[in-house]
Amino acid sequence: MTVLKPIRLVLLGAPGSGKGTLTSRLLKNVPQLSAISTGDLLRNEIAKKSEIGSVASGYIKKGQLLPDKFMAELVSSELGNRQWLNNKASFLLDGFPRTINQATELDKSLQTHDANINLVVELNVPPEVILQRISNRWVHQPSGRVYNLQYSPPKVPFKDDVTGEPLIQRPDDNPETFKVRLDGYFKQLEPLKEFYQKKGVFDVVSGETSDIVFPKLLEVVEKKFS
Ligand code: ATP
Ligand code: MG
Repeated sequence: MTVLKPIRLVLLGAPGSGKGTLTSRLLKNVPQLSAISTGDLLRNEIAKKSEIGSVASGYIKKGQLLPDKFMAELVSSELGNRQWLNNKASFLLDGFPRTINQATELDKSLQTHDANINLVVELNVPPEVILQRISNRWVHQPSGRVYNLQYSPPKVPFKDDVTGEPLIQRPDDNPETFKVRLDGYFKQLEPLKEFYQKKGVFDVVSGETSDIVFPKLLEVVEKKFS
């Protein structure tokens, strides 16, 4: 797909709604796009046993969100490191912002570069579908690649397609923790939605599987940026 304008896209969606899967597919279809997934970022810090990782692991284990200020600083510095704080770069944020405070902080740091978020897409997937899906989710931790044993199984069982390394189930994907994450998401959704609706950059795509949602998402992106 040929895209002419800089894309500064946020994917909003419940845990397990397919943000990771749709992000990978978008990156394949839109060459100039790169992504930051805050979940992957934090899990890699945990794997590295860094200081950020040690703060993050306590929250993630319980399914709780990290403090807004901590996340806002983390993402700003990541955007800076990647030299995306300008109005030419195209990027996708998966998993950030997810509270109104994070959205406000992000807005402040992007505004000074005339690079505000120009599209927010909510992935609207029924919670009962998500709950059913989650027990089938396996991930390749280093890359963040996501597989579903039912919908998108790896070529070799429990091995990553690209590296052949083993897949794991996320420790926070157990039913109890997942419920906390899902409830937390719906609590934050309305104010976030309103924030971006007022800015005129909000859109929704719905569907029960990523195969159904992806073409709709691609169309929204195409319409807006080509
Ligand atoms: P999924 O990856 O299934 O879409 P998710 O959105 O719940 O689900 P991640 O984005 O991978 O999961 O995040 C995992 C955990 O990392 C969260 O439960 C939270 O503890 C922490 N986290 C990630 N992003 C943020 C954020 N923007 N603010 C606060 N905490 C975050
Ligand atoms: Mg994710």
